[in-house]
Amino acid sequence: MNLNPEVIFGPKGPLSKKLPYFEYRPSQVEYSQAVRDIITKGKIGLLEAQTGTGKTLAYMIPSLESGKRVMISTGTKALQEQLYHKDIPLLQKKLGLQFSHVLMKGRMNYLCLLKHERAQIEPVLPDKNSVSDFEEIQSWVAETETGDIADSPVADDAPIWKALTISADACLGSKCRFFNPCFITKLKQRAEDAQILIVNHHLFFADLSLQIMNGYSIFPPYDVVIFDEAHQLAEIATHNLSLGFSERGFRELFSELSRELQILRTREKQNVEDAQNWAHKVGESVSKLFDRFTTMPQKVRYDERAIADLAQNNAMVLNERFNRLLQSLLNFVDKTEDMPQLYRRLSAAQSSLAFLLQGSDDAYVYWAERNDTREWSLQASPLDVSGALKKSLWPNLQAAVLTSATLFIDDNSKKVKEELGIEQSSDKKFPYNFDYPAQACLYIPKHLPEPTAPNFAESAGAEICKLVQVTEGGTFVLCTSFSNMRIYERFLSALDYPLLVQGTRSKQTLLKSFLKNRGSVLLATMSFWQGIDIQGDALVSVIVDKLPFAVPSDPLMEARIQYLRKQDRDPFMDYQLPGAVMMLKQGLGRLIRTSVDYGVLAVLDRRILTKMYGKAFLRNLPAMPLLHKLDELREAFGERREKFLQYH
Ligand code: SF4
Repeated sequence: MNLNPEVIFGPKGPLSKKLPYFEYRPSQVEYSQAVRDIITKGKIGLLEAQTGTGKTLAYMIPSLESGKRVMISTGTKALQEQLYHKDIPLLQKKLGLQFSHVLMKGRMNYLCLLKHERAQIEPVLPDKNSVSDFEEIQSWVAETETGDIADSPVADDAPIWKALTISADACLGSKCRFFNPCFITKLKQRAEDAQILIVNHHLFFADLSLQIMNGYSIFPPYDVVIFDEAHQLAEIATHNLSLGFSERGFRELFSELSRELQILRTREKQNVEDAQNWAHKVGESVSKLFDRFTTMPQKVRYDERAIADLAQNNAMVLNERFNRLLQSLLNFVDKTEDMPQLYRRLSAAQSSLAFLLQGSDDAYVYWAERNDTREWSLQASPLDVSGALKKSLWPNLQAAVLTSATLFIDDNSKKVKEELGIEQSSDKKFPYNFDYPAQACLYIPKHLPEPTAPNFAESAGAEICKLVQVTEGGTFVLCTSFSNMRIYERFLSALDYPLLVQGTRSKQTLLKSFLKNRGSVLLATMSFWQGIDIQGDALVSVIVDKLPFAVPSDPLMEARIQYLRKQDRDPFMDYQLPGAVMMLKQGLGRLIRTSVDYGVLAVLDRRILTKMYGKAFLRNLPAMPLLHKLDELREAFGERREKFLQYH
């Protein structure tokens, strides 16, 4: 079959004949041609195209045409699933294309046969509910070919999976008794034969980090990568190139060690007293270290003097105790199945902790954070991942396409390229697909105080209630802080609309409930809204309380600001403002997903009108009516809703 995009996506092409809802879109043809050009000429290209372009099929066709092994990396597991279960089967069925493709997720998404065997003989299940879950899993294991826990009858966030999955560093690999039938081994074998590999950014960069550290990769060699939702890459790369040591991780590692020492003592008749003694002492030192953090703020940078002193005082004792423990364990390294891996993990934990407590590498920001269950973790994140990617990623690829609805600011992709270490690329911004002036409107009330005013949250809460009444719910309220979110929650609970609040249930449950109960209002912070896809009139209003600048006191943000200042750059103009502009564009992207969607984007932050930098936000949004009064909004919204109802 001729896979030229002009033919495939043309007005008389095979898709137009086979898909009843096919719509000829010149921008889709142009987009697909651009992907083809990047792949055939072996370049890097950044392509900004909005929802509605039909990007997925448009990058799939030239990928298949190239005959190369192409890796498609998506922002979330949900998008991976959509590609694997919906888009690709559609292409195969409608165009009769034959090609092999594999869906690859992180290791913790697959049942580990070794742990499954242990669960049958040892009391490792976390709670009573897990007993019935385990029975269901037993029948599923006998049938499943992939071991993907998302396909099992038990929810993939059920506590039992902790006991039945395994992390990369704990897996026994080729030394495992189950290596041949192992689902991960089989997955890798299928990947070796596949033309298209579907992964997600977290897995991609976790693998890159492994490659940088020890040259190991779970992926077979590939030629081209297509990064969908590429605006997330810098953040996800930073996360995966960070080092960490957490109280919880340490506790889990030490409970595995205790179990192993117990086996050595009872089954292997070994004298493990010395090892147990040093394990106890290491545990004591770690608890002492984290105890000292209890009076600290929830998230704090290391280079604050008090913490540096505190960390370093403990570092020497802790390191010495770890050394003694490892020395003692050397006697047993080949005595049990798990001991070699356990020894390696303990040794890695020791080095990470030593690095974290030293806190002296200028390329990193060191910080400590307490989670909701009051457990601490120490982190070191690279201030800049561009160098690592410039060295270890881009030169190893024949071609790469980075695509998203938000890559450009003021018609250039400088910020994204700088963050990712891309020096040369061929970039293109595709025009908007939707009739924004007819479908949407932008509401910016002038009467609210500035967000820095003490009464802002109360005034914004009252305004949000009025907006919810105008649109009769169907609202996302995207908050810049948890404290404001609580105030808005108080205001909104006086209204009679189903209210959903981030943190009360899982993200998936909240979204399902939002879709099911028309007129719902969902309150969430910025991190929640990425990648959400709600079409139609379930969502007709997106309210942003403040311009979405990242919190400058966040350790990573604060350190990046200092880092840019040291380079004589303006952190506000070069980093904070472009980041916030992209976030706002993302917010609008949640609202209008198809050509019949409609609604209002409300920005309750008047600085968008009064400050110079406000213009950057306005000129990076598509043109649409700008309204300042509630009556005007009521009318404009009503017109748009009426038009929508005519379609349905
Ligand atoms: S090889 Fe690793 S993932 Fe597979 S069964 Fe063994 S321990 Fe589990």
